[in-house]
Amino acid sequence: MNGKLPPKSVIAALAAELNGLKEVGQLRFLRTLSGPQQAHTTLDGRPILLLCSNNYLGFANHPRLRAAAQKAAQDYGCSAGASRLISGTMSLHVELEEALAVFKKAPKTLVFNNGYVANLALLTTLVGDGDVIYSDALNHASIVDGCRLSRAQLKIYRHCDIEHLEKLLKNSATSFRRRLIVSDSVFSMDGDLAPLPEVAALARRYDAIMMVDDAHATGVLGAGGRGSGEHFGLDFNDLDIQMGTLGKALGSCGAYVAGAPQFIDYLINKARSFIYSTALPPAALGASLAAIELLSEEPERVVRLRSLADYFRQGLRRLEIAVRDDPTPIVPVVVGDPQRTMALSAWFLERGVFIQGIRPPTVAPGQSLLRVTISADLEYSDLDRVLELFEEKRNDF
Ligand SMILES: *Cc1c(COP(=O)(O)O)cnc(C)c1O
Repeated sequence: MNGKLPPKSVIAALAAELNGLKEVGQLRFLRTLSGPQQAHTTLDGRPILLLCSNNYLGFANHPRLRAAAQKAAQDYGCSAGASRLISGTMSLHVELEEALAVFKKAPKTLVFNNGYVANLALLTTLVGDGDVIYSDALNHASIVDGCRLSRAQLKIYRHCDIEHLEKLLKNSATSFRRRLIVSDSVFSMDGDLAPLPEVAALARRYDAIMMVDDAHATGVLGAGGRGSGEHFGLDFNDLDIQMGTLGKALGSCGAYVAGAPQFIDYLINKARSFIYSTALPPAALGASLAAIELLSEEPERVVRLRSLADYFRQGLRRLEIAVRDDPTPIVPVVVGDPQRTMALSAWFLERGVFIQGIRPPTVAPGQSLLRVTISADLEYSDLDRVLELFEEKRNDF
C-alpha cells in the first residue's frame, strides 16, 4: 500500500454525482424480494402484492419449472462449465433450441445467455462499418447499445412513425452494403405495439433485414403466446430475425434468436457475446423447456393474462385515469415528475402493493410513470384492491 489509493478525487466526484441524482429524485437503489418471484410474495420480509415484474404468465415459481430445473441440475450438474463452442453445449441446449424452433415455427434458433447479449450479438455481427441501421426512437437499451457497438451508421426514426422511417430509407444512399431495420414489437416501458406489418413491408421494399425484439411479446402476444409474428400473422419471410427472452413471461432465464439457418450459423461463428461466454446452466435450460411445454399445453394462460390486463385498464379508466389501450400486460400510468412518482410508489408500498416508478433516463424527462405490469397469477380481487388504492389517489394522476 503506497497510501495513494483509493483515488479520493474520484470517490468524491462519484459521491457528488450520486448526490445530484438524489436531489432531482433520480437516485436508484435495489429492493430485495425475500420470497419467490410471484404475485403474492414478500419484500424485505413484508407480504406484498407484486405489480412490477415481467413474470407475465406466473411461471417463475411454477412447480413444473421448479421440478424441471431440479431434475436438470440432478442429471447435468450446476454449470455448463465452458462456452458453447468449447465443451459447454449439452444435450439440453440442443433440446431447447429444437423446442424453440417448433414453438416459434422458425427455420433455426440459437440460445443466448440473456436478451441483452443476444441483441449485442445480432447488431454487432450482422451489420458493421459501411452498413446502416434504422432504429425506433424508443427501442430497448440493449438495442441502442448494440447499434453503437456495431459501427454501422445509425438512423433513428420517430417512435412508430412509418412515414419518417420511409423518408429515412428513401434518403439514405444506396451505397450502403446492408440495411437493417430493428424494432421492439412490444415497447418495454409503454407497452405499445410497433406497426410491424407496415415496418416489415418497408423492409421488403427497401431490401433491408427486418429484426424484431419480442422480449415482452414472447408468451404474451398471439393465441399461443408465440409472439408478434403470431399476433400480426407474419412469418420468417416478413420478420427475418426474431429474438426474445426466456427470463420474462417464460419464467426462466436466457434468450433466443430465431431465423434462417445462415443467420444462426453466422452468429455461432462470429458473435462475440455468444463465443466468449460460459453457456447457460442446466437448471435454466430445464426450466425453459418446461415453460415451453406448459405454454403449449395451457395456452389459456395467455388469454387470462390479457383479460386481467383489460380488466385493470377498464378499472383505471372508470376512475378517469388515462391509460393506453394495448393488448399487452404493461400498463403505464404517467405521473410526470420523478419525485412525485417515487412518492406515489412508496405510498402504494406502505399499503402492501409494489409498483416500481420509472424515471429518466429510462423514460423521457417529464414522463416519469408508475409501470404496472399484470401477471396471470393475480386474481381479479387482487386488482380490485389495487384499483381502490388508485381511487384514493386519483387526483394525483
Ligand atoms: C428485457 C429486455 C431485453 C433484455 O433481455 P434479458 O434477457 O432480460 O437480458 C431486451 N429487449 C427488450 C425489449 C427487453 O425488454
